[in-house]
Amino acid sequence: MEHDRPIEAGIALVQHPLDAHWERIRSRLQSEVGDVEYRTWLRQIRLGDADGDEIVLLLPTRFLRDWVRNQYGDRLSALWHAELPAIRRVELQLGADCAIPTPTLSEIETPVSTKAPTANTNAGATGSNARAELAAPLDPRFTFDAFVVGKPNEFAHACARRVADRPSSPGFNPLFLYGGVGLGKTHLMHAMGLELVRGERVSVAYMSAEKFMYRFIAAIRSQSTMEFKEQLRSVDVLMIDDLQFLIGKDNTQEEFFHTFNALVDAGKQIVVSADKSPSDLSGLEDRLRTRLGCGMVADLHATTFELRISILEAKAAASGVAVPPKVLEFLAHKITSNVRELEGALNRMIAHANLFGRPVTLEATTEVLHDILKAHDRRVTIEEIQRKVAEHWNIRLTDMSSARRARAVARPRQVAMFLAKQLTSRSLPEIGRKFGNRDHTTVMHAVSRVTELMGLDTAFAEDVELLRRMLES
Ligand code: ADP
Ligand code: MG
Repeated sequence: MEHDRPIEAGIALVQHPLDAHWERIRSRLQSEVGDVEYRTWLRQIRLGDADGDEIVLLLPTRFLRDWVRNQYGDRLSALWHAELPAIRRVELQLGADCAIPTPTLSEIETPVSTKAPTANTNAGATGSNARAELAAPLDPRFTFDAFVVGKPNEFAHACARRVADRPSSPGFNPLFLYGGVGLGKTHLMHAMGLELVRGERVSVAYMSAEKFMYRFIAAIRSQSTMEFKEQLRSVDVLMIDDLQFLIGKDNTQEEFFHTFNALVDAGKQIVVSADKSPSDLSGLEDRLRTRLGCGMVADLHATTFELRISILEAKAAASGVAVPPKVLEFLAHKITSNVRELEGALNRMIAHANLFGRPVTLEATTEVLHDILKAHDRRVTIEEIQRKVAEHWNIRLTDMSSARRARAVARPRQVAMFLAKQLTSRSLPEIGRKFGNRDHTTVMHAVSRVTELMGLDTAFAEDVELLRRMLES
């Protein structure tokens, strides 16, 4: 798991100071881009030498070097510079002495089994070799078991389960999963793939749309498009991740469209993911969009606080490191954008605990995650909070600072103070001042009263929770 990386870094520190920095940058990159992308493009980078303000990174092939330079060059420079301010440039070079032998293009794309592991080692595997080359590896950790289900993703999860149990059922073909970054699309696709290949004679090809394009271009170059088509059309289940990548790539789209039709006509299952719904994927050919929307379309919604807590609980439990509920709540409140970042933050805490053998505490969390938390400090203003709360209970905005003490206005005012304390970094006296120059003890009282009421009255608690969510998003 990721959390043992920094331990390696700790050891490396003794051997070679650059290695330690590189290890940290690597795990940073990995949590930023995700495991699949990391493994496809970045894992093979080796650390070269530093020369003045320049650091050399080595890649085993020209193709990989150019790709990494184009796609990740700036990010690598930025990360190195942040790690070691003296470094201003990252030079990507072909490394003759890379630990890994120079692979061919198909090897770079990490061919992995598309069949159950046993099937691959058997004599009958020859037929699946061609297909195996086509697909990207399925991450064994992205199982259905490891996927935490909550309101925002339960529909998508149910559809994925259904297709994994009975592929090519009418109404579920194609299955189109969509949603924002880091909400679990890739995880669900891998889970389906893992389930489908388990002991069954079902062949699955999973790849990103980007890889689809690369395979296609490579096939054109090597004049093997027929073979490419045949390979693709021989699978039982084709999964294409991040289809939005094909926008503007007309030839690849065309090819995908034909593959799609051939497979569906042959009764094969297609699963596609994208960041938007078919109808919102403008730039995709109309006929393709229409066909994509013909089966089941399921979206993954932004996470809720409850789901974030459940995910953190599950991941903390799996790590074996004791993480206090307070820390989990804190993270679930602060990091709302996506699960990947949430997971990254938790992993960093776990790594920290493992590395230094110190318990995870709230103090350690704010310290270790300083940079992440700062980036996520949403700038909710007290005025915004007052406006939203006043709207919600239908009172006048001026009553937030008026002297009226009727319950109908006093209660919402207390909620606004409570939210101001929770969602902004303002001090109690500062908050008091914004509410008609009230004393900080009034704010303190409001915070404890609202907390108490939330424990007593579920409807009220839900109201406050809803407001918080609205203000946070
Ligand atoms: P997407 O493909 O939608 O950008 P991913 O599937 O790559 O998102 O998810 C990002 C990370 O968050 C992965 O490590 C994944 O395991 C994790 N993740 C997302 N949703 C869940 C969930 N519901 N339960 C457990 N882990 C999740
Ligand atoms: Mg993804």
